[in-house]
Amino acid sequence: MEDHKSLVERLVRIGVIKSEKVRRAAERVKRHLFVPKKYKDMAYADTPLPIGEGQTISAPHMVFMMNELLDLEIGHRVIEIGAGSGYHAATIAEIVAPIDEPPDKWGYVVTVEINPTLSTQAYYNLKEAGYLGRVHVINMDGSAGIPLLDEVDRILVTAAAPDVPGPLFAQLKEGGKMVIPIGPPGGFFYGQELFVVEKKNGRMIKRRVTEVAFVPLRGRYGWS
Ligand code: SAH
Repeated sequence: MEDHKSLVERLVRIGVIKSEKVRRAAERVKRHLFVPKKYKDMAYADTPLPIGEGQTISAPHMVFMMNELLDLEIGHRVIEIGAGSGYHAATIAEIVAPIDEPPDKWGYVVTVEINPTLSTQAYYNLKEAGYLGRVHVINMDGSAGIPLLDEVDRILVTAAAPDVPGPLFAQLKEGGKMVIPIGPPGGFFYGQELFVVEKKNGRMIKRRVTEVAFVPLRGRYGWS
């Protein structure tokens, strides 16, 4: 079974992890703090794992690939739709708000979870791992954006949507980027694809990246 160090090294070697910052975040966040007890010994296998409520923590290669696509910088304000275990949010926090930089340079991550059991679990996982000052967990339907927040630099969606939700795109700053899987429930056999969406001069520019398999987005702009 792969350990933390060899997992990160392999993902660098095969080109999934490209940048120093994504690598550093991958090294810093301990995935075993975010998976259920019975899967602890599989925490550094490159595979999704069940986290309860029929949901999964994504495979590490998918988390880091999305982080590369997000093109994150220190100071960025980021929304994640689909907190799940809280792991992905922690890896983003390590880039936008690194602990060795002064807090006035920090951005933040607001991660939204529709399932109350999972949002509570994400909160305690993030607390245990030391991320509560940099990641905020909200229990609501995030598919229509977050009414309390201003526009943000980056948006990550970790559940497959029918299309780019209009209100979410509206919450993106000019020049901002969103990474989002789009396609029907059921995974890549049914045609889910990962997209990078950019806002340029107020317009949407969509780039398809690869085929993927995510759990379905629920809520107002999700699958019913
Ligand atoms: N990023 C997570 C894995 C996400 S799995 C991690 O690092 O562990 C996708 C999650 O999206 C599930 O927990 C699911 O409950 C949640 N979800 C689905 N639809 C949602 C919505 N409309 N708003 C917020 N969360 C949603």
